[in-house]
Amino acid sequence: MTGHAVVIAGGGPTGLMLVGELALAGVDVAIVERRASQELAGTRAGGLHARTIEVLDQRGIADRFLSEGQVGQVAGFAQIPLDISDFPTRHPYGLGLWQNHIERILAEWVTELGVPIQYGCELTGFAQDDTGVDVELADGRSLRAEYLVGCDGGRSVVRKAAGIDFPGWDPTTSSLIAEVEMAEEPELGIRRDARGMHALGRVEYEIREGEVVYANRGPVRVMVTEEHVGATAEPSLRDLSEALIAVDGTDYGIHSPTWISRFTDMTRQAAAYRDRRALLAGDAAHVHSPAGGQGLNIGVQDAVNLGWKLAQVVNGTSPDDLLDTYHAERHPVAARVLPNTMAQVALLRTDDRTNALRDVVSELLRMDEPRRRFAAMMSGLDIHYDLGDGHPLLGRRMPDLDLVTATGPLRVFTLLHDARPVLLNLGEPGAFDIKPWADRVQLIDATYNGVWELPALGAVTAPTAVLIRPDGYVAWVGDGSQLGLADALTTWFGPPAAA
Ligand SMILES: Cc1cc2nc3c(=O)[nH]c(=O)nc-3n(C[C@H](O)[C@H](O)[C@H](O)COP(=O)(O)OP(=O)(O)OC[C@H]3O[C@@H](n4cnc5c(N)ncnc54)[C@H](O)[C@@H]3O)c2cc1C
Repeated sequence: MTGHAVVIAGGGPTGLMLVGELALAGVDVAIVERRASQELAGTRAGGLHARTIEVLDQRGIADRFLSEGQVGQVAGFAQIPLDISDFPTRHPYGLGLWQNHIERILAEWVTELGVPIQYGCELTGFAQDDTGVDVELADGRSLRAEYLVGCDGGRSVVRKAAGIDFPGWDPTTSSLIAEVEMAEEPELGIRRDARGMHALGRVEYEIREGEVVYANRGPVRVMVTEEHVGATAEPSLRDLSEALIAVDGTDYGIHSPTWISRFTDMTRQAAAYRDRRALLAGDAAHVHSPAGGQGLNIGVQDAVNLGWKLAQVVNGTSPDDLLDTYHAERHPVAARVLPNTMAQVALLRTDDRTNALRDVVSELLRMDEPRRRFAAMMSGLDIHYDLGDGHPLLGRRMPDLDLVTATGPLRVFTLLHDARPVLLNLGEPGAFDIKPWADRVQLIDATYNGVWELPALGAVTAPTAVLIRPDGYVAWVGDGSQLGLADALTTWFGPPAAA
């Protein structure tokens, strides 16, 4: 039996991000992926929201994604556009980039970090005891690990084997999604009718001046709402043809599908993200309608919240109960996303009363305050972990400020590239002494003279120091004194080292 500190089941976006985070912290991690390669049947998610781009920027890899995708104002609520171009972030936009490319780029990063992705390797079950987890694989092998993380998608074997409940709501809509060739030229774009929402677009596109401009040729991505919910058989080209004819009166001569799939608005969330040595992240922990394009984004951010905590626990820096803060912080995030997707699905209905309601909501979302609040929510920039009362920065994302240090200019996010915490002293140089944590926490003296502004909240009082966790969230804020700093360092980065 092969042993590792951590085994991750599933090499989708969540599992790949998590393995990268653990590798940066020097953890012995193995990742098993059922697929034969990273090749994805279908494109699935269409891109990244601003906070996910920031999170990738914190690791120094955002440019890899930005250079391959289309930057634009992609945030919206039930297709009502939400502009974030005035938001105080280095990335006041979203990125259009299909999931197969997102996965490929993440997998390249993981490979650079030296972790082999074990393809064609399926987890079939596991058993845990007081000291570890025995993971069973379909090929008859087994792995031993201190912790197992199920990043194995909505039908998670890890979640089921752990006996974790998955309460929620059954689907009310079902859609076919496919990539096909068309003999006739279809009218491209999104439309809604009595049956629901439908979309036709070429896989290749550009965003020019805020508008999606499709390529003139090439495969078409079809999304069409089905008449009934509950089909269980794999969808066929014939199903797709019939659904298109029912909606548009023609199937545009569809042929040569590269993939056909089905998705619904089933909405469920794991009751617990942790059962002792087994943890859940991404779709394994939450599924919902793709409305608003949030699933991949919150999965990647689950991974960034969990990675450094799990690393500290297996490295012996922090006690095991640090892992309970993963559920405490991330369960509320998805618990907020689920109802927002349900509200969007409801608003996308096309009966007269829903259309009237949609007009009301559109009018509201054109007003500045509601626009800023909803845009911050949909782009993930307003996430606030409950770390107690205090300065508005506490529990919120650290902005990527342009600092000045004794050795020159420095961006805050550069300090997070290695996923190590930072105590940023913006007051008197040399005012802090954190020797007992010096092996874990970087201490940086710097100045910053600009305004401190948070998305949706606006300007906040400038702090004299901030303790930044590896995931980019603020764990302590200084206001001239060091009150509470030692406690925060101990809570988040373990007890002080003996002198
Ligand atoms: C049509 C559609 C559009 C979407 N659009 C968006 C969007 O615009 N933005 C957005 O953020 N999200 C979107 N999503 C959601 C997004 O695709 C998912 O939230 C995302 O893929 C979740 O990533 P994950 O890694 O958690 O799970 P998955 O991507 O499901 O990855 C799980 C991985 O685990 C592997 N696996 C499963 N079982 C096992 C096992 N037993 N052993 C080993 N490996 C296993 C699977 O092969 C897979 O690679 C969309 C989804 C759909 C269907």
